[in-house]
Amino acid sequence: MISANISKETRKAIYKRDGYRCALCDSPQGLQVHHIIRRAHGGTNDPANLICLCWRCHAEAHGTIIPERHTYHGGGWEDRQSLVDEYEQACTEYVCDYYASMGIIADPVSGGGR
Ligand SMILES: [Zn+2]
Ligand SMILES: [Zn+2]
Repeated sequence: MISANISKETRKAIYKRDGYRCALCDSPQGLQVHHIIRRAHGGTNDPANLICLCWRCHAEAHGTIIPERHTYHGGGWEDRQSLVDEYEQACTEYVCDYYASMGIIADPVSGGGR
């Protein structure tokens, strides 16, 4: 789930950037660094592709946990896929908004945030 290739410094920078809280639900508990665009899909270890999530949102972002509010099709793979897509979009928007406010256009695939 979490790539060991992210340096300690980068992890720290991500936690700090996101205020030591989950970017999606604001929880300060069980924080983990998540790749917004999966590495298999061309995502990098650039901060523009990394986000701080609590363990629950992180598991949901990977479709490991499907929250009840999201089981439109009985919790099958369609739900899982739409959940993963939804979280990917929410995370992308969070990071893009953050960098946009600093006048930087974030690009999770080729890098470009700081
Ligand atoms: Zn969360
Ligand atoms: Zn992850």
